[in-house]
Amino acid sequence: MKTSFETEVCSRCHGSGKYSFCETYRDRCFKCAGDGKVLSKRGYAAQKHFIESCSVPLSDLKVGDRIRVGSMTHSGNHFTFISTITEISRSETPSFYSNGTESKEYYPLTVVTEHPKHGKCGLTAPDHHTVRVYREGDDERLIKALKYQETLTKSGIPRKTTKIA
Ligand SMILES: [Zn+2]
Repeated sequence: MKTSFETEVCSRCHGSGKYSFCETYRDRCFKCAGDGKVLSKRGYAAQKHFIESCSVPLSDLKVGDRIRVGSMTHSGNHFTFISTITEISRSETPSFYSNGTESKEYYPLTVVTEHPKHGKCGLTAPDHHTVRVYREGDDERLIKALKYQETLTKSGIPRKTTKIA
């Protein structure tokens, strides 16, 4: 069995990883970031499946879970890192969201994470908001996603005749 998501030769640089020179990327091909290869449609669909299988709604998170959070550098660049949840609390003041016709009231959850280097981060969102969580069993989910990849056609669609366990 393959141990990673399927890739194919980058169509932009034909596998060299280099492309015409520009100030931002120098001569590095931005489609494949210089790797010379990109995820195939099948690999992309399987990777998406894997990420979704590792995503849980806020209401399912526990203190001690590790999640990916985002922050800004002093110069304004966005970056993400994996941080540990130290606190989960329910807001006592309602927020509102509108679906266009009616406005609904909800009490958001606040998830606080702490990272030894990047410090504290807070995320406030409704219960159904999903985040990528890093738990034991990720390897199992990866194996499942790779098995799923085997069942996909070249265009990344499940074969009709294949049953997924
Ligand atoms: Zn390329």
